[in-house]
Parts: sequence; C-alpha cells; structure tokens
Amino acid sequence: MNQTFNHLLRSTLQVIYPELCCICQANLVRGEYHVCTACAFDLPYITGNQQDVTKLSKLFWGRVTIEQVHSLFNYQKGNHVQTILHAIKYKSRPRIATHFGTVLAKSIPADHGLTCIVPVPLHPKKERKRGFNQSQAIAEGLSAVLELPLYNRYVIRNAFNESQTKFSKYDRYENVRSIFTVVKPKLLEKQHVLLVDDVLTTGATIESCAAELLTAVPGCKVSIATLAARV
Ligand SMILES: [Zn+2]
Repeated sequence: MNQTFNHLLRSTLQVIYPELCCICQANLVRGEYHVCTACAFDLPYITGNQQDVTKLSKLFWGRVTIEQVHSLFNYQKGNHVQTILHAIKYKSRPRIATHFGTVLAKSIPADHGLTCIVPVPLHPKKERKRGFNQSQAIAEGLSAVLELPLYNRYVIRNAFNESQTKFSKYDRYENVRSIFTVVKPKLLEKQHVLLVDDVLTTGATIESCAAELLTAVPGCKVSIATLAARV
C-alpha cells in the first residue's frame, strides 16, 4: 500500500515537476534516478578495471598505508562526471551523491573486511554555506548498502585550507597536513575505516585525513572510497 502510494506520489510530482537528467536535462522515466539511461550508459566507469584500481592505489604508495581504493567514475575536466559533481555541490542535490554512493557500494567486493564508514569532513563554515557535506551524502548511500555504521563528526576539520590551487603539488601536501583531528580515537580503535570523499585528484586531502586516523587511532586500518577519481 505504502509503495503504491509512493509510486502515485512520484508519478503526480513527475507531471507537475518533471525530474530531469542532471547531465542532458531529458525527462526521467520510472526506474531512472538522477541520470537517464543513455547518459548512465556513457559514463566512464572505473570499477572493475584493474589497471585503473592499481593506478589509484599507487597515488598513496610510500606516503600512507591504504588497504583498498574504490572509485566509481573517471573524472576529467569537462566530462559528464564533472557535471554530476557540479550538480551535487553547486545545485544542492545531495540525493544524487547518496544515489551514486549506493551504486559505488555495489561495486565493492563482499570480502572487503570494512567495519565502519567515515566521511571526510568539510570545514564547518563551508558546510553551513553549502547546507550539507557531499562526502557525508555519498557515505549514507554506502552505509545503507554495505550495512556498516556511519561515523560522522568523529573526525573534524581544523583549518580552512583556502586557495589550495595556488600551490604546487608538494606545497599542497604541506598545506593540508594536520588540518584534521580525530576527536573520538577510542571509538575507532581496531576498526577498518572506509574513508569517503567525492573526488580523488592529487589525493592530498584524503591522504592527510587517512594519515591522521592512522596516527591517532591504535590498530586502525584505512580504505578509501570516492565517487570519482582522475586516472
Ligand atoms: Zn541524460
């Protein structure tokens, strides 16, 4: 009954406010979520491509110990993945992030060994301005499918590392170092944390967050999941 009502409500709303594909703006039909079938088919998926996965892990070699790196899409300037990320962040559509979080979760092998999920925090000022943390929204989708607890606010962001783009790659690592603090290390002890962010480019921000977890929490392991990565 409830499901029938939901379908009815969705169909009615669809007529009044048709849901559009966040890439091509075509009207979505039943069974399509946020992206139409044609656009979804064309998206550059990373998952399952061993070469891409190895390339992503290499980002952290010799810097910080990361167990697994999971990423759904290949992000390139101007591609459709950038359009999706833009819609999430700047058109305030966190539900797109949660949806793709569930898709990402389904690509993670069953023997992952993960025990909890931690989203990379935004600076509170930035989160207030945006109204949500996109990493948290992705983490919600992952948590629902993987059936793992989601620990928000166990890690906080200290400084506002603005105008990062002015720095060289090396300086960027220095700039983001120690901007995170684990506020509840006891509760994360011996956990295998899945650290979640929206996009992996240089890896500097997520590396800093992972390093902080590995330093502050005894017996902790860290894996990474992002919606997109530049491979
Ligand atoms: Zn489309």
